[in-house]
Amino acid sequence: MKHRYESKELLQFRALHSRMKLLEKDLTYYLNLEKGFEGERYFDERLSKHLSDDWIVLNDLIFEVNNTIFQIDTILICNIAIYLFEIKNLDGDYYIENNKWYSKITSKEIKNPLQQIARSGSLFRRILQDLGCDVSKISLEYYVIFVHPEFHLYQAPINHQLIFPAQMNRFMDKFYSKPLPQLSNTNFKLAEQLLTIQLKESPYSRIPEYSYDKLKKGIICSNCRSFIIKGVNKSLVCKKCGHHEDIESAILRSTNEYKLLFPKRKVTTNSIHEWCKIINSKKLIRRILTTNFRAQGIGRSTFYI
Ligand SMILES: [Zn+2]
Repeated sequence: MKHRYESKELLQFRALHSRMKLLEKDLTYYLNLEKGFEGERYFDERLSKHLSDDWIVLNDLIFEVNNTIFQIDTILICNIAIYLFEIKNLDGDYYIENNKWYSKITSKEIKNPLQQIARSGSLFRRILQDLGCDVSKISLEYYVIFVHPEFHLYQAPINHQLIFPAQMNRFMDKFYSKPLPQLSNTNFKLAEQLLTIQLKESPYSRIPEYSYDKLKKGIICSNCRSFIIKGVNKSLVCKKCGHHEDIESAILRSTNEYKLLFPKRKVTTNSIHEWCKIINSKKLIRRILTTNFRAQGIGRSTFYI
């Protein structure tokens, strides 16, 4: 009932990464966002392959309880239980010492995923209570799923909430082979309620400062993220990867990127002409904007919303 899309923060970072040089810390943060998203998508794919119709899947829900904001990567609802998943795409070697998790290479502490999911679990229970559910009757389970095949945890505890890559198949099998009663109206009602109270986007964003003048202009290839420079008739061809894209879709995509990065700037024929840089015909840009947006104002002061 809720698909997973890139967050606004990730899309902004992606656009900025192509158009300016990110500081080392911002780049690390951005690449972690990409990696996390990739891991979640991988999990979705694995999960959806064999899941029967007796499940409701909700992805990436952000909630606020008692001024605490938390996100759950995947929620599965069936007639007899609710499962919460935290998906980790960590790779490399890690170890646990005094209940704390460390990367072996850097010796830096990372967030303890078990504590993280336990906290989300208890906050989620609170939400269920607030929604009027009888939590004593709901079986709520939560898991941390490590999806990266190169992940290793030394002296891993025997904990059924931690699912390592080598255990994934068996873990998934448990879900698939479970005979379940059909979903009830109560299940759907709960899912609807969760979708109603979720926050649309995380209030925490770590987007670095940027300005229009300092960003590189042009159209970015939707496949390899390099700048497209070659135009052939009605389509654009990326010189680096050979990807073809219809000129209209490329201009629209770039306009949406412009809106995402500069929500306060007006979308006009001139501004999009300057932003796309490689489209010579302003007439073409005007036609595309007129078809896809609503024009406001007249003549030279026309802008599109
Ligand atoms: Zn390309």
